[in-house]
Amino acid sequence: MQTICRFLARGTLFSLGVLNLAQAGEPHQYRVSIDESMQRMVVEARFSSSVDTVTARSRDAGEFLIDVRDCDDASPIRLRNQRMMLPAGGLRCMNYTVDLAAAARSEVHNRSLAAENIVVSPALWLWRPALDGDDAIHVHFDVPTGLKVSVPWRRLDPAPNSYRFERSPESSDAPAVFGKFDYSEIEVPGAILRVSVLRTGNETGHELNLASINGWLQSTATDVSLAYGRFPNPSPQVVVIPADDQRRSAGAVPFGRVIRDGGEAIELFVNRDQPLQAFLDDWTATHEFSHLMLPYVAPAHRWVSEGFAQYYQNVLLARSGTYEPLDAWQKLYEGLERGRQSRPELSPNEATARGMRNGRMKIYWSGAAIALMADVTLRESSGGTMTLDGVLGRLQDCCLPSDRTWSGPELFETLDMLAGTPVFMPLYKRYADTAGFPDTRPLFDRLGLVVSGNGLKVRRGGELQHIRMAITEADGAGVRREQLAKRGQASRKAAGSAGSR
Ligand SMILES: [Zn+2]
Repeated sequence: MQTICRFLARGTLFSLGVLNLAQAGEPHQYRVSIDESMQRMVVEARFSSSVDTVTARSRDAGEFLIDVRDCDDASPIRLRNQRMMLPAGGLRCMNYTVDLAAAARSEVHNRSLAAENIVVSPALWLWRPALDGDDAIHVHFDVPTGLKVSVPWRRLDPAPNSYRFERSPESSDAPAVFGKFDYSEIEVPGAILRVSVLRTGNETGHELNLASINGWLQSTATDVSLAYGRFPNPSPQVVVIPADDQRRSAGAVPFGRVIRDGGEAIELFVNRDQPLQAFLDDWTATHEFSHLMLPYVAPAHRWVSEGFAQYYQNVLLARSGTYEPLDAWQKLYEGLERGRQSRPELSPNEATARGMRNGRMKIYWSGAAIALMADVTLRESSGGTMTLDGVLGRLQDCCLPSDRTWSGPELFETLDMLAGTPVFMPLYKRYADTAGFPDTRPLFDRLGLVVSGNGLKVRRGGELQHIRMAITEADGAGVRREQLAKRGQASRKAAGSAGSR
């Protein structure tokens, strides 16, 4: 395992599984204090050795700094060009005060939240030296009794509110949540989800209760864990945020995203006035959780990560019983056709370089075509013993969560090595820089699916129909979802008769 990981990482160690904390360098020690009214944050940063440069990830962070001083002689430290101007010879310790309330006002998340809970990304307040290799910061939060903290960083047990901040792809700005909100730890195969359900400022009176929200997340994460028997990240941060007014009519989960910044976080924006069944039928969370089955792929190859998530979202919802298998194939077919019609003059790499605005469907679906082709090829050539699920399970074993950004070819080469046979890279070479769209139509025919009018029909005798059935085969999750939906109905009735929300 070590050998394979070292090879895959091109000389760098991975953050989990292989990293031995005892061998790593001493971490920097940060103590973060927040007052009861969440107006101010005071940070004491003790560095493991003298540092000469300290920055924050956001260019706006300087606006919220009230005071910065050297711990030892209390001399002030000034800012220039987003950097703290540390004394010549470096600094071992500093303390600084952040206008937390002003930073919270700058975050769009907080527009739909009650004042008792705020989201303020560490990008706005975590001033730190660059982290190389295994460097880390241990952050301890001192918060008044009754206030909670949620960050995506690895927890340092058993100390409460202590975390290990490590190098990461920094794909976007992670959320940090402070205040009074509903926090739960939800167990799914191979993982404990650290779920924070944030409170909205405008109660509708018809809110889906917390148990139902947690049930939905557990069910969805369990579906994803069943791809290869465990959830891809052992302890991700999940933040459930009330959707703002613009998104109130857009279904149960109008928006979600994965952020890899110091750890892996999933933000899900929800409309809690929707019934539990609408949450169970919504694909957003399945899509976002599926992203965690791959490392962070460079924006230039975003079509790979979006495509794999599109493929899995449909396949997993069929396996869970949410979609009839034929409906899932129909959705895949329609998506692939939309991708085929989107910017046919561009290759997937070119479309991605030009951005989402024009080639969105090409970016979302060309990778799904390749995921499907790879899955079928693996199953066909191995007589069903090797699958895309299995190869991604091996990827998780060796390499996830990953602390860095991967290129598309690097990922595909790794998948080939893990599969033990070249399947992915040949597809990449054939399609990534070729105008048009992977031709999946003959494959659908071999899977026993024929186009009939606007829909797909099953054709008896497709030579690969057994593979079609294996890909979308139900696994009993449908029964679990049905029970959950029934429980949700019962608890809503009980809540209704008791006169509470
Ligand atoms: Zn996505």
